[in-house]
Parts: sequence; C-alpha cells; structure tokens
Amino acid sequence: MTLPNTADIVIIGGGVMGASTLYHLAARGQRNVILLEKDEFFGQGATGRCAGGVRYQFSTEINVRLSLESLPMLERFKEEIGQEIDYRQCGYLIVCTDGEDAATFKRNVQLQNGLGVETEWLDGDQVRKRLPLFQFQDALGATFNQKDGLVDPNSVVAGYISAALKLGGKSFNNVEVTGIKVEAGRVVGVETNKGYIATEMVVNAAGPWAGLVGKMAGVEIPITSLRRQMFTTTPLPEIPADFPFVIDFAQSLYFHREGDGLLIGMSNPAEKHGFDQNVDEEFELFNLEAGIARLPVVEKAGMVSHWAGLYEVTPDAHPFFGKTPVDGFLVVGGFSGHGFMHGPISGKLMSELILDGGFKTLDVSILDLARFDEGRLIQEYNVV
Ligand SMILES: Cc1cc2nc3c(=O)[nH]c(=O)nc-3n(C[C@H](O)[C@H](O)[C@H](O)COP(=O)(O)OP(=O)(O)OC[C@H]3O[C@@H](n4cnc5c(N)ncnc54)[C@H](O)[C@@H]3O)c2cc1C
Repeated sequence: MTLPNTADIVIIGGGVMGASTLYHLAARGQRNVILLEKDEFFGQGATGRCAGGVRYQFSTEINVRLSLESLPMLERFKEEIGQEIDYRQCGYLIVCTDGEDAATFKRNVQLQNGLGVETEWLDGDQVRKRLPLFQFQDALGATFNQKDGLVDPNSVVAGYISAALKLGGKSFNNVEVTGIKVEAGRVVGVETNKGYIATEMVVNAAGPWAGLVGKMAGVEIPITSLRRQMFTTTPLPEIPADFPFVIDFAQSLYFHREGDGLLIGMSNPAEKHGFDQNVDEEFELFNLEAGIARLPVVEKAGMVSHWAGLYEVTPDAHPFFGKTPVDGFLVVGGFSGHGFMHGPISGKLMSELILDGGFKTLDVSILDLARFDEGRLIQEYNVV
C-alpha cells in the first residue's frame, strides 16, 4: 500500500498505545486514520520487550482507576477484538522488606480496597508459607491480588491492529516520522522517510521516543528513556502451577512463570538515561546472583533468552494524556514502566478526546502535560 499524502489523523508509533488508539478511532467510524511505525514490525519497542504484567496494585487513585478500566478490557479482548492474548490471573505478590515500604503498601491496600480492588495484606509468616521456595526471612509482609497477572503483549498489539484494519484504519511499517510541520501554532503535516502527509491531527504515541517526537513539533515533553532488562530460564519443575508474579520491592527484583521456567528481571538503580537496548551483561550477572539468593532453585536452571528495553519515564511516574501547546498535536505516553496494561483504556480515552472533545470513560485530565509547569505532580510509589 502506498503512503497517503493526506490523513485526518496520524498516529506516530505502533506499540500498544498507537495500536489501541488506531483501533478505537476505527471502531468509532474513522476511516482516514493512519498509524506510522518506524520498525519493520509493530510492537517491537517497549511493548514487545515488556514483562507482560497487569495489575490493579498502584499507590494513586488515578492509576488504580486506569487499571479498573483497562484490565477488564483485556479480559474481554478475545470476545471483543477476536484475538487470544493468554491472560493468566496468577496474582501479583509484592514483598516488603523495608519498614517504610511496608507502611506505604498497607496504606495502598486501603486505597485499593476503597476503590473495590480486593488486594490483601499478608504478614511475614504468611509470605513465607505462600512462597516456600524463596528465602524471605526478612519479609515484613506483602500485598497480594489474585486478579493481577500476565498477558501476551504482542498478541494485544497484533489484535488491535488487525481489528483496526478490518474497520478501515491504515497502518504502515518502516515509516519513520522525521519532522512535524507546525504553522501559526497548529499542526499541518508530518515529514517521513517515505514522504510528506498533510494532516491537522497528530497523536504522539512514540513511547520512549516521545520526547524526541515532541521536539519535532517544538514541544518539550519530559519523557526520558531508561534501560531495563530481564532473562528467561530453562524449565524448573519445582515451580508450582500457581506461582504468582513475585516482586522483591526493595531490590526491584521480580520473578514470574514463563512457560515451564521463569522470567527474572531487576531494575538497575545506576542506569543512565539513554536509548541503548543492548543487555548489560555485568548487571545481568548481578541480577542472576540476586535471583539465586532469593530463590535458590534458580541455580539449577540455564538461561534461555535475555533482552533489554526502554522504560518511558516521567518525573512523577504518571503518563501524559492529551493536548500540548501546539494545536492538533496530542500525546499519550510516559507510562513509566507500567503502561502495557493501561494501553487498552488509553487508546479509548484518546479516541474520546479526539471525537468527543474530552475524556468520557475516565477523567484523566489531571494527567495533562501542563502539570509540570504548574507544579501538580502526583508521585506513583509502586514503580518496579
Ligand atoms: C523491560 C520492560 C518491562 C516492562 N514490564 C511491564 C509490565 O510488566 N507491565 C506493563 O504494563 N508495562 C511494562 N513495561 C512498560 C510498557 O512496556 C510500556 O509502558 C508500554 O509498552 C508503552 O507503550 P507505547 O506504545 O507508549 O511505547 P512503545 O511500545 O515503545 O511504542 C512506541 C513505538 O513508536 C515507534 N516510534 C518511535 N519514534 C518513531 C518515529 N519517529 N516514527 C515512527 N515510529 C516511531 C517505536 O518504534 C515504537 O514501536 C515494561 C517496559 C520494559 C522496557
């Protein structure tokens, strides 16, 4: 298909945000919407490299509410979008070994319960009973929610894009946006490596690259990219079928079932902002040793694969939704390492902003870009 030279709406980025936005616009009857992805395949950015975790457990009301809208959309995905996404409700068990974390997570349980989310608090002995294979002598307690779990990210992107195409949306790979043309304070088109597209509406869904895309329109979007990495192991028959997504919060170290083995990841607190997506093998060794110290059975396993990806980080670990100082230039991004799970609702909200003039399903207006300049930051604590 040749790239059109005009479009009603251009979406930049074929990760979960762009794919969901395309689908929700196409589902509302928009035919002249095009999604542009610089890579050969969709979903190879943060989305395709993520851990696939989906959870209700957050420390701010707005993040819990995003999950309350988004996770049921994932539960209904097969039925509504027609694509199997392998949703497993294995539960997230977030272990606290630090007193301040424990106090905060106990408060988070109250917040979540107040919003109808059935997260429970386990004391240290209950944690050790629930996780007999782990060395958690220092656990003070943990939060657990059985409805949290895992979903296959690539299936979500593929599902949204193929459903959108059937509805008349258009998507293009290997098309990199290289410039955004702005006249008299409003968008008039995008430059790409395959030609110019005239348009009055652009959605910046470029994930970790959203700050760079913002600059093309002369807009400062404080999204920086931070490398995160993980590896998977050979089968470990000792790991039970009901193994939850376990997070050692103080170390940002996590484990979940991946096939018959495990996926193990850890955030490097010394990582510098940048776009390097190569695995840091020195840190990987550190991660492996930390993993074995917590879960000694890992010593028996071999490594199957490893990869790195980029978190799209904002100063308060909350995303941006909506307008920018340039008319017609919108942003949906900066989910700070937990955005895959919020992709479904985020695309729907962007379609509402564009077609209805405001957010209908959930009011996310506090997550506007202006909050930084106006000092309205709202910090999320539960970042892994
Ligand atoms: C290691 C890791 C683990 C994670 N684990 C989880 C998790 O368990 N649960 C969870 O919910 N979230 C997780 N996340 C976060 C999650 O992956 C992101 O929040 C989410 O995928 C962001 O989606 P996106 O569509 O905004 O970005 P992306 O998926 O990165 O999509 C942006 C796309 O834009 C394209 N693009 C960029 N610039 C241009 C351009 N100029 N022209 C055309 N195309 C362009 C890119 O190629 C890319 O495909 C994790 C992230 C990482 C890196």
